[in-house]
Amino acid sequence: MEDTKCRQHHALAVPLPGQGHINPLMRLCKRLAAEHDFTITFLDIHRHHEEAAAAESSPAAHQEPSSAPAAAAHDVEFSPPDPAQKLDIRRARLSLYLPPPSSPAARLEGLFEGVQTLAPQIEQLLLRLQQQHPPITCLISDLFVTAATQHLADKLQLPRVALIPCSHSIILHFHHLLEGGFSLEEVMKVSIQRELLRENVFKEGLQGLPTLKVDDLMENFGGDFFMYTFTCKALEETKNKAHAFVVNSFEEIEGNALKVNMKAPLYAVGPLVEPLEKEASTSLLEEDDTCLLWLDQQPCSSVLFISFGSIASISLAQFEELVAGLLSSRQRFLWVFRSNLINDVVFTTFPEQLLSESCGRGYVVSWAPQVKVLSHCSIHGFLTHCGWNSTLEAISRGIPMICFPYFADQFMDAKLIVQEWKVGLRLRKSKESGLVDREEVERAIRALMDEKEGQILHKNALVLKQVCDQNYLSGGYAFKNLQALVQSLN
Ligand code: UDP
Repeated sequence: MEDTKCRQHHALAVPLPGQGHINPLMRLCKRLAAEHDFTITFLDIHRHHEEAAAAESSPAAHQEPSSAPAAAAHDVEFSPPDPAQKLDIRRARLSLYLPPPSSPAARLEGLFEGVQTLAPQIEQLLLRLQQQHPPITCLISDLFVTAATQHLADKLQLPRVALIPCSHSIILHFHHLLEGGFSLEEVMKVSIQRELLRENVFKEGLQGLPTLKVDDLMENFGGDFFMYTFTCKALEETKNKAHAFVVNSFEEIEGNALKVNMKAPLYAVGPLVEPLEKEASTSLLEEDDTCLLWLDQQPCSSVLFISFGSIASISLAQFEELVAGLLSSRQRFLWVFRSNLINDVVFTTFPEQLLSESCGRGYVVSWAPQVKVLSHCSIHGFLTHCGWNSTLEAISRGIPMICFPYFADQFMDAKLIVQEWKVGLRLRKSKESGLVDREEVERAIRALMDEKEGQILHKNALVLKQVCDQNYLSGGYAFKNLQALVQSLN
C-alpha cells in the first residue's frame, strides 16, 4: 500500500542575532510547529562584545585571547524548551564575540560578518541533528545569514528556506540591479556603486512599486555600502541555490512585488505577528511590563506610542526637537527610550526634567512588550522608525503611524505606509537645519491624534487589520501559503 503520510520534518532555524530578525523567524517556526507538526531546533546566537567578554568570569571568556579575531565562536549547547514559549521549540546556543560597535551601521556590519564565522559550528550542529530523531530535514535561515548557511545546506543536501526579514519591495530593487545587467562584481566596486546610484535606474517606479529615487537609496544606505553589497550577494546566492524564499508580507500590502519571479519560489506568509493570546516574548532585552499598567489607566485611544526599534539612533539636537514638539502637542505618550538611542550620549534614564514637563501625560521605559502595547486599547498612534516588524505589528493591530525612517529598508517602508496603504504620515526634515523641527513634530502628532486626517488613517488601518486577522486564520492566505511551502518540502 502506498504510504501517504507526510514526512516528519525537523528544521534548524538560524536567525541573524538581532531583534528585528529573531522575532519573525521565531514566529514562522512557531506556526510550523503548531500547524504543521514540525520539530524545530532554534539557534540562539548569543552576542558578546569583546570588552564585556574580557570582564566575564566564565571559563569560555577567559580562553578568549586578547588578539581575538573580529568574531569567535564556542561550541554549541542545547537547552530544553522554554515553557514561556508556549511551544516545544528546542534551543541550541552558540556564542559570538564581536568587536564593540562604534555606530548602528557598524553594529550591523559586525553582525553580518561575525555570523559568517559560525559556519563550522553550524555544520557540527547539523551533523549532530542528522543523527537525532526525527533527523534534520531542512534549514530555515535569515536571508542575511546566507553566507553561513547556504553552502552547508548544499553540502549536506538539505533544502534551505530563506526568510526575507524586510519588505519585499526593497529586495526587488536589489534584484532589479542584479538582473538589469549590473553584475555583482560591478555593484560591489564602491566607485561604480556610486555611479550606478547616480543613474536613474529606478526612474519609472519598478514594476508598479513606489518610486524609489536615487536619493532615497543613498539615504537608505547612509553612505555605508556594506549593507548594499551584502544584500546583493545574499540575494544572488539565495535565488540561485535556495529551495524557496519566505517573505513576511501579503498580497494587500505588496501585491505587485509578490508577483515578480526571482528563480527560487516565493511564499508570502505575512504578517508574522501572532494574536495576543499566542504572543510570547522573544526579546533579547528585559521588557518593562509596568507600561501596561500605566496604559490601563489611560483613556481609550488616547496614547501615542514612540519607539525606534532596536538599532536606530538620533542626534541630541533631533531628540530635543522631538521632545519639544511632543510636549507642545499636549498628547499622552509612551516612549521606549533605549540607553543608546541618542548618538554619542549615553542616558541611563530619560531626562527627568522632560518627563516632569509632560505633567503626567507621559511614561517612559527602556524596552517595552511592543506587540502587547500596540494591542492595548489606549494606543491611538505609533511614532516609528518604520522597521519592517514594527510596521507589520502596527497594521496587524490597526494602529496608524507617524513615520521617521532612519536607514536600511525603512525609507521604502515609509513610502508604503504613507503613499500606498495610506495608514501614516511622514515627518519631513527642514532644509535649513537638516532636522525634523519641533513645529513639524507637533503638526504631525496633532494631525494623527486629534484631527480628521488621523481619523481617515485610522479607518484605513482598521481595514488592513481585518485583512491581517483573516490571513492568520486556518485556511487563510498565510496558512495556505505556508501549507504549500511544507508540501514542497515533502
Ligand atoms: N521591540 C520590542 N520592544 C521595544 C522595541 C522593539 O519588543 O521596546 C521589538 C518590536 O516588536 C519588533 C523588533 O523589536 O519586533 C524591532 O524590529 P523592527 O524590524 O521594527 O526594527 P529593527 O530593530 O530591526 O530596526
